[in-house]
Amino acid sequence: MASLEGKGAVVTGSVSGIGLGMAEALARAGASVMLNGFEDPAPALARVRAAVPDGSSAKVDFRNADVSDPEAVGALVTAAAETFGGLNILVNNAGIQHTSPIEDFAVERWDKVIAVNLSAAFYASQVALPLMRQTGWGRIINTASAHGLVASVNKAAYVAAKHGIMGLTKVTALETAEEDITCNAINPGWVRTELVERQIEALAERDGVDIDEAARRLLSAKQPSLRFVTPEQLGEALVFLCSNAASQITGIALPVDGGWTSQ
Ligand code: NAD
Repeated sequence: MASLEGKGAVVTGSVSGIGLGMAEALARAGASVMLNGFEDPAPALARVRAAVPDGSSAKVDFRNADVSDPEAVGALVTAAAETFGGLNILVNNAGIQHTSPIEDFAVERWDKVIAVNLSAAFYASQVALPLMRQTGWGRIINTASAHGLVASVNKAAYVAAKHGIMGLTKVTALETAEEDITCNAINPGWVRTELVERQIEALAERDGVDIDEAARRLLSAKQPSLRFVTPEQLGEALVFLCSNAASQITGIALPVDGGWTSQ
């Protein structure tokens, strides 16, 4: 595994789900990590601190910020740089979902999904890039989705935001191509987090089946592996994108989706 000792990282939306798995993997590789998100940070702080290897000087901290607010997300990124003595890794991971057919899709919900899943990554990258240039080494990883590559019904805002973040990823990669800075997207398939649990519950109610059967139906509709991707697997994919082996990989989509987008 890559050593990220001495690197400073911020992972948005990292007190639960995928972001927490990514924060743990970064800490395990020796990076200092700033956590963020709306839930109680105490359990996440304990888990990520426990992942720091013995003898490592890595620090783990938390800062509250609504990433859809440009000033708040800017302050989050700056705080990570100040706390860790520099910023090297930005993971734009916070995300929300809303499902509805287009004609019934509330405009406020559209605006919020675009703000959290797309605009936040732009705000954070704007502040992070000059800080990465100061250190001379940077990695931006955007948590996109299989829905950054293909679409599904009733997810207009989410699919638009995730396709949008693929564009932002490519532009960021081109604008940093001559520097030791890369920008890539990770495109997960189904991961059993809060965001998906709510969709499983809705499917159970719609089809009149129990939660286990609903989870099986959710997978079989999209994910040929018929198994959920785990936050731990996504954390390891993230650490790979921060490794020396990946230093010439920039602007890509890395699907971790059990075959979803191969269909
Ligand atoms: P989750 O709900 O478990 O975690 C989302 C995190 O983002 C939470 O910590 C939440 O507090 C935080 N968050 C939400 N809005 C925020 C805001 N405005 N400011 C700051 N933090 C905010 O969901 P997850 O499944 O872990 O999702 C993480 C990312 O992975 C999202 O971008 C999501 O779109 C993406 N994703 C998830 C799946 C999946 O199957 N779960 C698949 C593909 C992509």
